[in-house]
Amino acid sequence: MVVSVVRGIVNAIKDAPETGMEGAEPQRARILDPAAIERKLALNTYNVDASRAHIRIIDHEVCLHCVRQQCINCCPANCYVPNDDGRVIFSYEGCVECGTCRIVCHEFHNVEWTYPRGGFGIQYRYG
Ligand code: SF4
Repeated sequence: MVVSVVRGIVNAIKDAPETGMEGAEPQRARILDPAAIERKLALNTYNVDASRAHIRIIDHEVCLHCVRQQCINCCPANCYVPNDDGRVIFSYEGCVECGTCRIVCHEFHNVEWTYPRGGFGIQYRYG
C-alpha cells in the first residue's frame, strides 16, 4: 500500500507544470524513488508492546459503511490492509506514531488511538 501511495505522489509530481527548476534532477530522482519511504522505514527499530496495542479499530463492522477507507491509503507504514470481506485488517507493530489514521477516520471515529507505553514503540534511526 505504501508503494501505491508513493506512486500516486509520483504521478502527481510528473503531471505538475514546469517550475523552472528542471535542472535539479538528482533531488527529483530521490523524491520520485518509490522505494525511498520503505528504505527509511527499514532503518527504524521497534520495541513492540505485545501486551497492549496502542491503536485499535473499535468496531470492524463500522468499516463496512466507510466508502473511502482512507486509513488504508494514508497510513505511511502500511498498517491498514483491506480484507476481501470489506473490513480492514490492522496491525500496530509497524506504526510510526504519526497520528494520520486518527485524523482520517473523522467520519466514523472508529480508531482508538494512544501512544505506546513508555519504552515501547518506534525508535527513529534517521533524520
Ligand atoms: Fe499508520 Fe500513522 Fe496510524 Fe501508525 S499512527 S497506524 S503509522 S497512520
